[in-house]
Amino acid sequence: MADKVYYCENCGNIMEFDVKSQKLKCKSCGTTQMITNDQKSIVEHPYDKRAERKKQTEIIEREEKTMECKGCGALIRVPGDVTSTECPYCGSQYVLSDKQQDAITPDGVVPFKIDKNSGNEIFKSWISKRWLAPSRLKNLYEKGGLQGIYMPYWTFDADTYSRYNGEGGRDRQVKEKDKDGNVVTKTVTDWYPVSGHVEKFFDDVLVRASESLDGKLLKGIEPYNTTKELNSYSPEYMSGYSAELYKIPIEDAHESATGIMERELKNMAEKDVRRTYDQVRNIRLDTRYSDETYKHVLVPIYSMAYNFEGKTYNVLINGETGKIDGAYPRSKVKIIAIILIVIAIIAGIIAAVSAKETKGAQLETEASVEYEVVMEQDYNEVV
Ligand SMILES: [Zn+2]
Ligand SMILES: [Zn+2]
Repeated sequence: MADKVYYCENCGNIMEFDVKSQKLKCKSCGTTQMITNDQKSIVEHPYDKRAERKKQTEIIEREEKTMECKGCGALIRVPGDVTSTECPYCGSQYVLSDKQQDAITPDGVVPFKIDKNSGNEIFKSWISKRWLAPSRLKNLYEKGGLQGIYMPYWTFDADTYSRYNGEGGRDRQVKEKDKDGNVVTKTVTDWYPVSGHVEKFFDDVLVRASESLDGKLLKGIEPYNTTKELNSYSPEYMSGYSAELYKIPIEDAHESATGIMERELKNMAEKDVRRTYDQVRNIRLDTRYSDETYKHVLVPIYSMAYNFEGKTYNVLINGETGKIDGAYPRSKVKIIAIILIVIAIIAGIIAAVSAKETKGAQLETEASVEYEVVMEQDYNEVV
């Protein structure tokens, strides 16, 4: 990942990745330059040969600027011309890092399809619908709080074949007498041993390679089209954007991917049993994995971190699809206002109800007066 600066052939100014043209574009004269994208060159690497590849790619250029965040510890590679030093994840300051990374050059990149202006618009409309958010937050987008960053991911492919065994249950209805002697219908399940097999080819099981951001938030803006929209890696995509270096080792990510696949295979096995049984339990799998491959890819996100009353919040936007998810503080003033409004409404209802009751009571009084009058009349008549 060399993060060199690209200069315009025409005027000598800095060129950056342009979302609209998907090319490098000069900031001052608008000259564009194609980025090589050879999708055929993207290869899935055999997982069992990963150690060899690591050795090969360990010798990477050391001229790039790697920054380390003092707050969350993220290692972020920034373009050579970047002067801002605010971490997109936690808002803390970066410092130049002297950490030696054993990096694997990315195989592919999903380029940004949403430009920063659109990102700001997406944020603006999202935050305007969060009406408990403090009003002050709504102005953040105007200050350019949104930062584009490429997040590292691992993707895994595997061909799987699983033998399974477990128990399938058949329900039947029985009539019984309960303790009061009434006949009741009960469901009883008879369990039988079952076995079978399921198979599936998994393509691009996505596992994050960084722990800097909340996993739930990241899941919230997935998926990325790493199969069709993946371009071959070129450092040109990074110009104008920063990129985080992977921290989660491939072995750990592989374990997570296997877990994801096992869960899906188990679901498939359970479905298989349910085709002939009413219920299923105790499914055990024995899976054979073959043709396991992996890729290291970068996916685009916009991240915004902001501090509010001592707490850090993140808002993320998928830079490919525009999907947004985020945490935000609830304004105390607004919550109090809402509570007051609710109290006012309840008070209003109580007042209305008691007014009705008072009216009812008045009617009752009138009726009894009438009754008394009638009584009097009766009395008179009798007299
Ligand atoms: Zn130029
Ligand atoms: Zn940070």
